[in-house]
Amino acid sequence: MTVYLDEPLPDEMLFSVIARYVRMSPVGDTARFLRYLMGPLGAVATDETLRFEHLSAQTDAAWGRSARAIQDTLTLAPFYSTVFGPSGDPSISGPNSRCAQWSGFLEPGRPGLRFCRSCWRRDDNLNDPRYWRRSHQLPGVVTCIWHGEILCLAGAATARRLLTVDTQFDDARPAVDGSASEVIAWDAVARLAGQLLRGGCPWAGFSDLGVCLEYVQRCGYGRGASLDLARMSRDLTTRLGGAYMRVMGVARNDSIWLRRALLRPTRGSLQSVSTLLVAYLLMDSSTRLANSNFAVCPGAKSEHDEDHRVSRKNMGDGTPHYFCSCGFSFICQQFNCGDVSIVPTQVGPDLAVTAAILASRGYSVVRIAGTLGLEVRDVERQIRYGIEVRPWHRRTVRARHLASWIQLVDHLGDANLAFQRDVRLWRQVAALAGAFSEGMAPALAEPIERSL
Ligand SMILES: [Zn+2]
Ligand SMILES: [Zn+2]
Repeated sequence: MTVYLDEPLPDEMLFSVIARYVRMSPVGDTARFLRYLMGPLGAVATDETLRFEHLSAQTDAAWGRSARAIQDTLTLAPFYSTVFGPSGDPSISGPNSRCAQWSGFLEPGRPGLRFCRSCWRRDDNLNDPRYWRRSHQLPGVVTCIWHGEILCLAGAATARRLLTVDTQFDDARPAVDGSASEVIAWDAVARLAGQLLRGGCPWAGFSDLGVCLEYVQRCGYGRGASLDLARMSRDLTTRLGGAYMRVMGVARNDSIWLRRALLRPTRGSLQSVSTLLVAYLLMDSSTRLANSNFAVCPGAKSEHDEDHRVSRKNMGDGTPHYFCSCGFSFICQQFNCGDVSIVPTQVGPDLAVTAAILASRGYSVVRIAGTLGLEVRDVERQIRYGIEVRPWHRRTVRARHLASWIQLVDHLGDANLAFQRDVRLWRQVAALAGAFSEGMAPALAEPIERSL
């Protein structure tokens, strides 16, 4: 027997159509109705499209949609398909099995059911019933891809609620609060998720770990075998905001979630958000790298982030070196194909550690800034964040040598005298010449020592 469900509205979630029918028709026992509509629950489908075959048959007269068409137009399955593997890969049954089929594979839990006020206003104006859109329920999405507005939260998406949930929310609160720059980042995440939902795959890194790791290297988060996941996690939090990370249930202060998302993409609700966010960061950073005429710190929110001012200095060997006011330093490697890659270096972190050592030995911030050729506010910040020096940077020996060298120059009042007194100490820090103020480098050492 045919069930005459409404013709689905544009981008409507499957549960939304069913909920409207349940509300408008005398459906007494909803559990029984769902079994009738969807077929025996718990039946294991070997082919992903099979799970909607019963629904397709039951709605054939009203909808005339194949099981595959139902899945592609009324559920979030196309999104999971792209995030977790090529379309049609049965492995998508992993994340999907955690969500009720009739929900349209809406994930239970964070951040819950979302709607856009302007979209509902549009429904009211068109005399359409207000309904739940797929693009708003995607993992990680908090803005409307049509209106750019922050979505409102209608509470947790528990299966029990979905068929009775109302569409009257006059005092709903925004899904998350944040700054203007964070909203821009949320919007980029929403547009990426929306693209994946519509079958687009703008990035090969979703299915190819090699491509993904190549992006990690290019954006300055990897060097050799080591990945700087902690900095990656911090940079994501800087762009999206701490409130967003909390709402999504992604830990801000550790990088285990990132390691899982990057290296062992297991299925599940949390992982789909992580995988999406990693893709957003790497795609965004790499576009920034390709489009910007000047070097931008990977930690910057945008190209004009006041907390990440980059200056260029030529080091002893003539290599242009970029120093960010946050303490990060890097060189830009250009390949024949025109691609640019950020290669983190040790010099910036060394200067930050040197600043911290000198401060602990009684040097004033102004003095440290003058000696190291930095701005006072940057030194203050770097000392404060000194503990954030990343594992692969944890070679503090050179920083200790530099601090001792600066103290020796100060003590003797002249870099050349210091050079005569302790050539070996100078040699330990000679490679850093160019990074700190000229008065600290002995003219006597030119040019042989400087080229070390
Ligand atoms: Zn909208
Ligand atoms: Zn920076």
